[in-house]
Amino acid sequence: MKVLVIGGGAREHALCRSLSQDPAVSELHCAPGNAGIAAVATVHPVDQLDGDQVTELARQLAADLVVVGPEAPLVAGVAEPLRAAGIPVFGPSAPAAQLEGSKAFAKDVMAAAGVPTARSYVCASPEEAAAALDAFGAPYVVKDDGLAAGKGVVVTADRTAALAHAAACESVVIEEYLDGPEVSLFAITDGTTVLPLVPAQDFKRALDGDHGPNTGGMGAYSPLPWAPPGLVDEVLTTVLQPTVDELRRRGTPFSGLLYAGLALTSRGTRVIEFNARFGDPETQVVLARLRTPLAGVLLAAAQGRLAELEPLRWREEAAVTVVVAAEGYPAAPRSGDVIEGLAEAEAADGTVYVLHAGTRTDQDGRVVSAGGRVLSVTATGADLAQARERAYAGVAEIRLAGSQHRTDIALKAAE
Ligand code: AMP
Repeated sequence: MKVLVIGGGAREHALCRSLSQDPAVSELHCAPGNAGIAAVATVHPVDQLDGDQVTELARQLAADLVVVGPEAPLVAGVAEPLRAAGIPVFGPSAPAAQLEGSKAFAKDVMAAAGVPTARSYVCASPEEAAAALDAFGAPYVVKDDGLAAGKGVVVTADRTAALAHAAACESVVIEEYLDGPEVSLFAITDGTTVLPLVPAQDFKRALDGDHGPNTGGMGAYSPLPWAPPGLVDEVLTTVLQPTVDELRRRGTPFSGLLYAGLALTSRGTRVIEFNARFGDPETQVVLARLRTPLAGVLLAAAQGRLAELEPLRWREEAAVTVVVAAEGYPAAPRSGDVIEGLAEAEAADGTVYVLHAGTRTDQDGRVVSAGGRVLSVTATGADLAQARERAYAGVAEIRLAGSQHRTDIALKAAE
């Protein structure tokens, strides 16, 4: 099978790593990729938002499967010309990807499907926003309606700050605050059959103790020893299947990866958000635990054959990933710094490996930083404590001027 992966972050590196280990994959390509992906796949300089360019590349390569990693190409409709050309694609169409592209659309689908989520108002003016904030009270949750790479949400007790964020967005969703721990649950779906993966938890805030601004994600772990048994089945029945059924009913079937961001509140499980693709950094830990070869599963989803698959097989081991971010991330990340210690960070037995996010190779062949999140140091272990220890031992080997990382990824869960 010849596979082309679209994207160039640590999620795509994790996807490429798993695909490269699948004996069914004879050729692996990635566009645009990054310095780390180039070690496991042939990389191609293509504009990932340009459906025609991507389709042309897939044609030239005679790709049997295209896997679209990030949300932006999906929302831009990159899957459509590929499907029109008869190439199997893992990833939803633009209308189905609105589940992530528009918070208001997601709320509408959830209401129609009876999926539990935070009560909310969609507001188009400062007056409406102020009224909605006062209806719910503090802490305030204000979300930019459009795509914002995980950074469009402000949760604050400060009414002035909440109003300021609302004013900065064209359309906002203001919703009730959900208490309780968060869980990310991914499911692979072909538009009808839904196959949940294992739950993971990510750390959205920049600083230890969940302080600082929201980011794209600073680390993740799986499994979740504290999660109630039966959580996956419950979410499949109350969230994932009804959402997939509703989108099919609307004539915009969702095929690809449905990501449910959940809050386990005192009043039950609630959806915080949907994403239309693998989450980053949770993918790094979920795929680290997947035993079933990945390519066949993604192809079956792309071809509407998921019901024929054997149940997915998982490793008992735990996995932890720690994001190494550039100085100034998320507000103003600095780039172009040389990264050293990449080889030393990895373990020869494969229990620790470095997934690249924002990296590139400079003209002297050195790996340099090229984005806010630079690396995702990933480790497996017999339990979370061991995986965590290994991941942080890897992080300690990395030398990148001004870099930052959280020191408390999976800390509480490992205790
Ligand atoms: P989102 O982009 O919707 O995932 O939001 C980013 C982060 O903001 C989430 O992971 C939560 O930590 C937080 N958040 C979003 N919505 C809520 C809510 N209704 N109540 C509490 N926290 C929220």
